[in-house]
Order: sequence, then C-alpha cells, then structure tokens
Amino acid sequence: MDIINESNVKIQSIPQQWYGNGISQLDMLRLDLLHPVVSGNKWYKLRLNVMYALDHGFKAIVTFGGGYSNHLVAAAYTAKRAGLKSVGIVRGKYDILTPTLKDCIAEGMELIFLTKTEYDRADEPDAIKELVAHFDEVFIIPEGGANYWGRKGAGLICKHIKESYTHIVTSVGSATTLIGIRNEAPLTQTVLGFVPMKGGEYLVETVSKHLHPDKNLRWQLFDRWHFGGFGKSNNELIQFMNDFYTECSIPLDIIYTSKMMYGLKQLITEGYFKKEDKILAIHSGGLQGNSSVSGLIF
Ligand SMILES: *Cc1c(COP(=O)(O)O)cnc(C)c1O
Repeated sequence: MDIINESNVKIQSIPQQWYGNGISQLDMLRLDLLHPVVSGNKWYKLRLNVMYALDHGFKAIVTFGGGYSNHLVAAAYTAKRAGLKSVGIVRGKYDILTPTLKDCIAEGMELIFLTKTEYDRADEPDAIKELVAHFDEVFIIPEGGANYWGRKGAGLICKHIKESYTHIVTSVGSATTLIGIRNEAPLTQTVLGFVPMKGGEYLVETVSKHLHPDKNLRWQLFDRWHFGGFGKSNNELIQFMNDFYTECSIPLDIIYTSKMMYGLKQLITEGYFKKEDKILAIHSGGLQGNSSVSGLIF
C-alpha cells in the first residue's frame, strides 16, 4: 500500500554543542517529514489497520479522537486514499470547528460529535454499533490506533533504526508507538518514553500488558516534563523550541516532541546516561498542531 512514500524519512544528527559531553551521539529520526497530513507515527499505526480492513472487505473505518487529534485527520486521509469511507467520533461538541476537524471533513470524513461523558462510554461495542448503524461493514480502530495492528505497525518504525543506538527515545500518548517499538527492537536497545500529561504512571500497566513477555524489560516512562498537563505549555517551552530550531534546524511540536526533547536534555544533564551512549530520538510529527501557537519563530 503506497499511500505514503517513506523515502522522505531521514536521520539527522543533533550538534554536540546542544547536548554536551554526557553521551556520545544524539540523532533524530525525522518521521515528521513523512507527509504534511499523515505525519510521523500516525501512518505506521494506521497502515496495517487499513490493510486489514481492505483485505477483509470492509467498506468504511470508524475511529475516535479529540478536536485536535492528529490521528483523526491521518485516518481520514489514509482511508480516502485506500478507497474506504471514514467516520470520526469526536470527543466534545464544537460550535466552531478546529482546523483539524475542518481538515477531516475536507478529507471526506463524516464526524459524529459526542459530549465527553457520551464519548467515554462510546468504546463499548454496542455503543459503537449504534453510532455507525447507517454504514455497512465498518472496521473499528480505537483512539490513537491503539490495537494489535496499530502496535504491530508501529514496530515497522524500527526498520529505520540501526542497531548501533543504545537508546531509542519516543513521546507517549496512548503508548502504542512505544509498545510497537519495544516489541520489535532488540534488547540491546533501551526504549525511553516521555509522557506529556500529568500522572502518566497509569501507562506503565498498559505497556506491560501489551509487551511480549520476553520484551518486557529495558524500557522506562518519564512523566516529569508535562508542563502543567496535556496540551499545556508556557513561555519556557516555546523559548526551548525556538532555541532548538536555531541550534539544530529541527521544528518540534508543542504537544509531544518539545516536551520529550526538553526532558531528554535534562536527563543528559543529570547524568542519567553513560558517556558512550548513542541515542536516537524519534520525531513523531504533529507539526500541524503548531499553527495555533504564538511566539514560534518557525
Ligand atoms: C499521537 C502522537 C504521539 C503519541 O503516540 P502514541 O502511539 O499514542 O503513544 C506522539 N507524538 C506525536 C507528534 C503524535 O501526534
């Protein structure tokens, strides 16, 4: 399925002056360059889901997300190119559509708006069936692509990762990407996840549950760098993103990868790593979300 051309993906090295002497190498896997709409990790999580739907004769996909969900718009785009209808179940009622939701509609997605309470109940199979009863043969993809095919697809990111790296660093929402990578990467590599929301410890259980038992080691989550919670930021974070852009020529997104790189730099400074460690940080995309942020120089 050649909906997205992966040849845009590249590895870019971060100048040593940015990270100092605490490690020997830091590179970034630029999955943000994959595609302007289906950016970063979203493609990998959707890919095998959409293939499954096509192979099994489904005519539509239904999936879930908030008004700013990168997953929702990526699903709309991918489904359209695959010849499938798409339905997006949106958390919250919007009188004025967000840019993301407008993009979903432009990609042919039908949106169903639920209140937050309704939404939290909507992942029960009966509730979903009722919502999409007017479509035949709909394949249901959970929020964030967090199912078997999403995790398996995320593991495909590893084909871009050389074994010489000692650490793979990723940001975490549903943890689907981190699980896919941990399941696929060799145990000579440690996988570190940075959670951009408060109280992210609950994800430890989610991760453990979905790892192959022999892969349930050499991974760790950090939730210290949430900047007040999911979607929250401050001037310090925006300044950090601007400085990173100036020094490393890489734009970060305000929700996920900025907090990840901020936290990673702090861990390096605190002496968490060994001097010979080689780190690959995954740029999981999300840059379209920066359009509503003021104060960025890129
Ligand atoms: C969705 C998203 C994530 C989170 O991925 P999960 O697989 O849900 O953990 C990380 N970074 C960016 C830029 C995203 O859009």
